[in-house]
Amino acid sequence: DEYYIGLDIGGTKCAIVIGDKNFNILQKIRFDTETERGYTAILDEFHYHIDKLFVDYPKENLRRIGISCGGPLDSKEGVIYSPPNLPGWDRVPIVEVFNKKYGVPVALQNDANACALAEWLMGAGKGTQNMIFLTFGTGMGSGLILNGQLYTGTNDLGGEVGHIRLANTGPVGFGKAGSFEGFCSGGGIAQLAKTVVTERLGRGESVEFCPNIEMAGELTAKDVAMAARIDDPVAKEIVRISAEYLGRGLAVLIDIINPQCIVIGSIYARNEMLFKPHVDRVLKEEAIPAAIEVCKIKPALLGESLGDFAALGVAIYENEF
Ligand code: BGC
Repeated sequence: DEYYIGLDIGGTKCAIVIGDKNFNILQKIRFDTETERGYTAILDEFHYHIDKLFVDYPKENLRRIGISCGGPLDSKEGVIYSPPNLPGWDRVPIVEVFNKKYGVPVALQNDANACALAEWLMGAGKGTQNMIFLTFGTGMGSGLILNGQLYTGTNDLGGEVGHIRLANTGPVGFGKAGSFEGFCSGGGIAQLAKTVVTERLGRGESVEFCPNIEMAGELTAKDVAMAARIDDPVAKEIVRISAEYLGRGLAVLIDIINPQCIVIGSIYARNEMLFKPHVDRVLKEEAIPAAIEVCKIKPALLGESLGDFAALGVAIYENEF
């Protein structure tokens, strides 16, 4: 039977998803991106797995390939520019590469846009007309559904919210200290953790979840979330800072877009209870009250399958949403 291939290229993990046009997932392969090996090695790994899949799924039944990837990118040109989470990728003509190799139509979409569509079609944003999706994973990006349509901007840079500077100093994202991605992403929280923990230890205070200064540089967002869940005060302080900036970022988006719903993925979805109280407080202080009233802030509903549905959606809809 006819099938589609969705490719999810993330800063941490990649996936190949085979599915039918009704979003039934038939098979899935994951591998670590390991960005340091460079993009050609990563593309080779995709080719290697896809060629093996053709044993069970005849190539002539493949309808289309969809690629969901962190931006900045140009979906019409089919080119990935230089995403902060994919170092070494610079103007990669990815659509042409896959189109030449497999001889089927290939569509490319920003990962946040692809996830926005998936959550809008079958997740937490179902039934809304105006919805914003925020990734809050390895990076911070957004997908905007406006008046019941995906809005991608003049040259596909609409919704690149990670770039927005929220403070003069702070963790770095997009080469910018204090950006939305700096405060609200996996890498950003790790940077924040390093700074906060180093300061505390430097003052002679104790930090239970990271007792020595050498370990501070190794901390991940996951370590912080785990410690915060068991009430470690320093971890909770790190989460508070990230959550307050998330609140500020949301306030900006709510004031501009006046959405019905904002759906937030990965880190927020897994740790809503840690973030929500701070987010709600800051929102109250910063956004227009009547706009907050109509806007629901929700964790993504599709959970760990969100990226799979998103990539498959790009293949199924071919950017004709
Ligand atoms: C990129 C966005 C992307 C997000 C999540 C950001 O660094 O600029 O395009 O959606 O990461 O991968």
